[in-house]
Parts: sequence; C-alpha cells; structure tokens
Amino acid sequence: MLKKYCYDGSRKLDLKSVPTNSKSDHVDKKAILEKTAENQQKIHQLQDKLYADGREGLIIVLQARDAAGKDSTIKHVLGGINPQGVDVYSFKQPSGAELAHDFLWRFNRSIPQRGKIAIFNRSYYEDVLVVRVHKLYEKYAMPKRCIGKADEFFKKRYGHIVNYEEYLYDNGYRILKIFLNVSKDKQKERFLERIEQPEKNWKFSDSDLAERALWEKYSGAYEDAVNNTATKKAPWYVLPADQKWYTRYLVSKAILEVLTDMDPRYPEMPQGQVDRLQVCKEQLMKEDKKAEK
Ligand code: AMP
Ligand code: MG
Repeated sequence: MLKKYCYDGSRKLDLKSVPTNSKSDHVDKKAILEKTAENQQKIHQLQDKLYADGREGLIIVLQARDAAGKDSTIKHVLGGINPQGVDVYSFKQPSGAELAHDFLWRFNRSIPQRGKIAIFNRSYYEDVLVVRVHKLYEKYAMPKRCIGKADEFFKKRYGHIVNYEEYLYDNGYRILKIFLNVSKDKQKERFLERIEQPEKNWKFSDSDLAERALWEKYSGAYEDAVNNTATKKAPWYVLPADQKWYTRYLVSKAILEVLTDMDPRYPEMPQGQVDRLQVCKEQLMKEDKKAEK
C-alpha cells in the first residue's frame, strides 16, 4: 500500500492524479487502527535500539499545506516515544539572523546526533515552496549572481538540497520526507472548525486564506520540489491526508519501514564486560543474603 505513495526519482508526481483519501485502498478503518497501534509498538522498540546503537540517525521531514494535520500526526504517531530519543523542530518564517545566512544554516544546526530521531515540522523545502510562490528570494540581500532568474535559482536550490541530503546520508542519516496531501474541500472543512470552535481559534490566521487562494501555485511548487528532489536515498511519500486515522497509519508504516531497514541493534558487550556483569551480579546477590541473616 505504501509503495504507491512513494517517490524515489523513478517516476513523476502529478498531484491531480493522486488520492487524498483512503478510497482507492479499500481498507477497513477498524483494522487500520489496530495496525497503527501495532506499528507504534514496533517503532518504540526500534527507537530504543536506535538510541542504544547510536550509529545512524533519522530525520523525518514533514511538509504540508495548512490544516493537513502535521501537528496532530506528530502527536499521535510519535507521541509515545521516549522523549529523550526524539527532537521536534518547527520551522517558521526565518529570523533576520537566519536570513543573513545560507538557507540550510538553520536546519543544519538542528541535525540530531546519530541514534536520535528528529522531526522537522516544515523544513528547507519551504525555501523552494513559500519562497517560490511569494517570490521572496527577489528581496534577499545577496549578490545578483546568486539570485538571477527564478528557474535557475530554484533549479540550483533543488540541486543543493539533493546534495545536502546525500551528504547527510553519507554521514549516517536517513531522511524520510513526507508530504501530507490534503484536498481543498477538506482544508475548508478544517478551517471552518478552527473558526467555529473557540479552542481551535488559535490555530487559524487570516493569512491561511491568502495561502489557500494560491492553491494551484503551491501544487506546482510541491510537484516540482518532489520531482526534483526524490531520490532512492531520500525518497518522498505523498500521503493522503483527508482522514487522520489513515494518514497516521501510513506515516507509522513509513517510519516503521525505514527503521526496520536501518536495523538498529543493541551494542554487543565485549566478553570481558559480560564477565564483569556476572561479578557484579554475584556481589549484589551476596548483599541480599547478608540482609536476610
Ligand atoms: P505554521 O507552521 O502554520 O505555524 O506557519 C509557519 C509559517 O512559516 C508558514 O506560513 C511557512 O510558510 C513559513 N515559513 C517557513 N519557512 C519559511 C521561509 N524559509 N521563508 C518564508 N516563510 C517561511
Ligand atoms: Mg499556518
């Protein structure tokens, strides 16, 4: 099931032709909920090993339009993980200091140590999405040679991203890139909930409507981003996001698959240390006997 949503550079994404809900997968909701819970258990076990092993790190990049469910996916799929093993970073509009550096600078500072999982709630992909749709690069304080024409500017950025992800891969990281693909109708429904329910008001901002009005432009930017940066080493998953229960299942499955492939193991103890453990055990047992007397 997951394969049909995966883009690794061997085929092109056409957003109009991919599903935003579970219909085409003919699944049973109850069974999916059970499988999600099973996947979560397995993820927890593998995360424990990943941390103990400390040889490889995982970076999960989450991209989506507003109200596609990034935050709730993070909460539900990874909420039960040992907090010491996971870092979540939400990237908003860059600060002045961030804009004064190369575009990857702020992300590179958040790369986790190997053994950990980092979740990027938005990422350097915003630099080829919102920056492209709103032509923000035109105002960047950079020399002319760095800005040039839009096509060239973003073509270079895709290249920089592909190289950066390969660099991370070669340094012991896996990169899992997820686009939560919500439909325009579902976004409207969720926006209305955010407006009508007082406890959800904080999630809505006027600018969300301005972004919605640019739906088609964002579609084009997402397609180009995926098609220019999907590789075997850092594939994209374009997941249906209209039903949260199904999205959570697919995200849990994607994470489980990459962790399984990473195959983390608890470190093997050298024989000397195993012997030492026995000595310690005997020492502790003796303590018990003394206390009983
Ligand atoms: P939210 O995640 O909805 O709280 O909003 C964060 C906002 O930051 C989104 O509107 C993003 O498009 C915006 N953002 C993230 N990265 C950049 C960037 N590099 N340049 C401009 N805006 C950005
Ligand atoms: Mg927003």
